[in-house]
Amino acid sequence: MINLPDWEKSGLSHIWLPYCQMKNMALPLPVVGALGCKIKLADGRELIDGIASWWSACHGYQHPEIIAAVENQLKTLPHIMFGGLAHEPGYRLAGELVKILPRGMSKVFFSDSGSTAVEIAMKMAVQYWHNQGQSRKNRFICFRHGYHGDTMGAMSISDPESGMHKLWNGYMPMQYVLDIPSDEYSFAEFKELVAGIRKTAAAVIIEPLVQCAGGMKFHSADVLAAIKNICKENEILFIADEIATGFGRTGNIFACNEAGITPDIMCIGKALTGGVIGMAATIATEEIFVKFYSDDPTHAFMHGPTYMANPLACSAALASLEVFKKENRLAAVEKIEAQLSAELALCQAFPGVEDVRVKGAIGVVQLSEMSTEKKLKLRQEFIESGCWIRPLEDVIYLMPPLTISEQELTKLTSAIYEGLKKC
Ligand SMILES: *Cc1c(COP(=O)(O)O)cnc(C)c1O
Repeated sequence: MINLPDWEKSGLSHIWLPYCQMKNMALPLPVVGALGCKIKLADGRELIDGIASWWSACHGYQHPEIIAAVENQLKTLPHIMFGGLAHEPGYRLAGELVKILPRGMSKVFFSDSGSTAVEIAMKMAVQYWHNQGQSRKNRFICFRHGYHGDTMGAMSISDPESGMHKLWNGYMPMQYVLDIPSDEYSFAEFKELVAGIRKTAAAVIIEPLVQCAGGMKFHSADVLAAIKNICKENEILFIADEIATGFGRTGNIFACNEAGITPDIMCIGKALTGGVIGMAATIATEEIFVKFYSDDPTHAFMHGPTYMANPLACSAALASLEVFKKENRLAAVEKIEAQLSAELALCQAFPGVEDVRVKGAIGVVQLSEMSTEKKLKLRQEFIESGCWIRPLEDVIYLMPPLTISEQELTKLTSAIYEGLKKC
């Protein structure tokens, strides 16, 4: 049906694609460019982007200031190792991030992907206790519907069902998977469970306010703050995975801000560079850092990726932070939130729609169930209406670039409405 360019035809026999059964997959759409909130296809069609390249392209594509910053950096120092050598973009970025992170977060450890940032957070938590002679505290408390990445440690703390844990039975570390408590009764139960495992639990890890890839499930800032408090009472670290929620997505610059909490360790990634280059970071408070700061060489933190603090990525992130302030992205999120709420509410009328919910620039239409056929049919409908929207689990969601115009956003929400009407 789509006319494939030569490079895709010949490459197809050598490429292995993510999350898909290669035998009967729908062929990926060939892309030749992207500008603003539009993706340009090889056949000349344009799609409005409802996903922002897995939630990373917060300023849309080809933002001139980010492109210029990366171009300049490319001419002077595209990369240099971070062990034993220092460069300005990396050191400046650490300082700029600390200025906007929740108060008290102060030590930034760079890496190259979200999953790696999560692995680093997990190693940091385990070594934090080890350095204090508490090496039994090496398990994690995590939540059903959570998603923290695809590497082994990150997978072990993600939802066991959607993470397909049984495929790696015996290889993957066992963790404590609990439900996010929501009311008095479930909090009492949660407290009791946590108290029972405090001696072996290094940390709780949570996606604050919105569990994204595991089904776009929301919880309140009060719930988040209460979980943080229970961690403190039980001497368990609190890790916030803000890889998806960070940089304005939920309405605050970080989701933790809404709950007024400072995690012990935080992970950021995705929108960090404005979606231009892969980069992530794990940030710790001073209290965590001091347990590594000692005369004992074995207390040093043992990690260091080859492309750590890549200067191109750092320069993109620095420019992205500037643009974020200058173009007031948080105000844009507020407008997107209002528009998503008003327009997606119409979908509530369809049978099979269980719930419509919006948080910041995240709009979700929850179906009671979604078959694989329905998912594929909807995807196709969306493409035909000029929109890039991919249903996930049992939800249809929008997480567009924060620069999306009112008209473009209406096109996305109408596509969902019309798609539901047809399918
Ligand atoms: C995407 C995501 C990750 C993994 O990031 P990658 O860059 O894909 O490795 C981890 N945690 C959360 C919450 C995410 O949304």
